[in-house]
Amino acid sequence: MRPYILKEITWKIVKESSYELAVLPWGACEAHNYHLPYGTDIYEADHIAAESARKAYEAGAKVIILPTIPFGVNTGQTDITLDMNMYPSRQAAILNDVIEVLNRQGIKKLLVFNSHGGNSFKAILRELGVKYPEMFLASCDWFKSLDKSQYFEEPGDHADEMETSLVMHLYPHLVSPLDEAGDGAVKTWRVSGLNESWASAERRWSQVTEDTGVGDPRKSTADKGKKFYDDVTDKLAIFFQELCDVNIDDLYK
Ligand SMILES: [Zn+2]
Repeated sequence: MRPYILKEITWKIVKESSYELAVLPWGACEAHNYHLPYGTDIYEADHIAAESARKAYEAGAKVIILPTIPFGVNTGQTDITLDMNMYPSRQAAILNDVIEVLNRQGIKKLLVFNSHGGNSFKAILRELGVKYPEMFLASCDWFKSLDKSQYFEEPGDHADEMETSLVMHLYPHLVSPLDEAGDGAVKTWRVSGLNESWASAERRWSQVTEDTGVGDPRKSTADKGKKFYDDVTDKLAIFFQELCDVNIDDLYK
């Protein structure tokens, strides 16, 4: 039983505790090349949020991890069987309900802990921030928090060397042999601006990649995954801790 994981604890423990920060991990359920499970983003969200919280909790942070939301925005993959799409408007409705509970009960800080590139919570949280002015609402993309090139040889953003190495470290029994994986080759846009970070349009997934992966996974190892996992959870633990410590009425220096 981990006292910072809500789904594992009892009302007795909750009643005797106080919380500064609630963390809501948010995943997606989608194909990840031929070798990783559909739940990759959910497993990553669960595990990385929990381990970061453990480190923060042991350093004194009053953090609580809410159960992971399993479905994300997958509007570009409507033709890939069992990729489960949840629209941003539905995510906004869910967040509204979660925030309403926290606000009513005096837990005034929420971090949406995003694990899926298709999810974007910034605009939703801005809108809900007006509705719940006493709440401090933040989001983060853990997968952008470190420079991946320091850990992995191949670039990518979906079922790539990073994700494959992480799942090899955390859930080795869920990774198929890498010789079954596709090469994760990805096409680029004919409109050059869309290949740069200042412009964007949604990728039509099954036209962009053959195997649903983006990034070559074949140099992945569990050791690379462990090193990245240790460092990313160190960094996020500090983030959790600072969010717990900060006074909402005195956020800037
Ligand atoms: Zn993923």
